[in-house]
Amino acid sequence: MSSRKLSRITNIWSKVVKGEGGKIFSRIVIEATETFEPVIRNRNGGVLLKADGVVPNMPEGSIEVNDGLVREVLLNQAGPGLTEVSVHLHHPAEWRMEVAEGIPFRTIITLDRSFISELFQGRIIVIDPGHGGEDTGARGPVNLVEKNVVLPISLNLKELFEQAGAQVILTRSKDEKVSFKSRATVARDAGADLFISVHTYSNSDSKVGGTAVLYANSCRESLEAAVLVKEELVKKLKLADRGFKERKKHYLLQGVPDIEVEVVTITNWVEEGLLRSPTIHKKAAEGIFNGVKNYFAAAAQRHEVLL
Ligand SMILES: [Zn+2]
Repeated sequence: MSSRKLSRITNIWSKVVKGEGGKIFSRIVIEATETFEPVIRNRNGGVLLKADGVVPNMPEGSIEVNDGLVREVLLNQAGPGLTEVSVHLHHPAEWRMEVAEGIPFRTIITLDRSFISELFQGRIIVIDPGHGGEDTGARGPVNLVEKNVVLPISLNLKELFEQAGAQVILTRSKDEKVSFKSRATVARDAGADLFISVHTYSNSDSKVGGTAVLYANSCRESLEAAVLVKEELVKKLKLADRGFKERKKHYLLQGVPDIEVEVVTITNWVEEGLLRSPTIHKKAAEGIFNGVKNYFAAAAQRHEVLL
């Protein structure tokens, strides 16, 4: 038995970071009070870290990440002075571990997000922030207007898609009125892989709330994207699931699959309040991003089966 002082894990956090050559990684940082020697290996398509002489000094259990690659990080004490940190992934990934001496002592697991970059490489995505200019869209009980919240959500989403390697076109990037014709024409002329309209839902009953996604009828890709985006968005926002709605395919979009995301309900008291914070703009973008990633992953898998 070592006489070394027991180390305590005080914090675990994760971030998507840009590394050398612009490559994107998921980084998980485990902070502890004292130096220890982590043992790390692959397990069940993820990563398992064993830390001897270490105890958790934070709640055990799942830390949800859902950054497109890392699903969650599980912290648990496996025995006396033995702590396990397991990283669960959506897709297999290469990883490396480093330690950084200091206070706190940091164990850093860096995971390769190439799988995601490959899915987005060469993709053209049109993001369509609803309304704009004199067309304010819906209004919340304390006067927040839809046009002003769908734009920051869309800008966050653009950043995530671009970071993953896609080409993104916004139908508006400021507070201006844009006709549906020109929004759709942009997508059609660019030969977009997906057209995503970003809206909020409104209802005369301020108790009604939640997230929904609309899809174009007669378009299988539209429905598939809607299913996957709604699933991930509900996971991220944890608001009521209002389901799917079918709507007419707009002839101007021709072959471009399109969805309309009703991110939250602006007329709901609580959700209007949430919308005032940049946190929910970022979370909403992350949810939509994860759904679109799953949509492209499903398409890639189908392609592989056909080959
Ligand atoms: Zn709208």
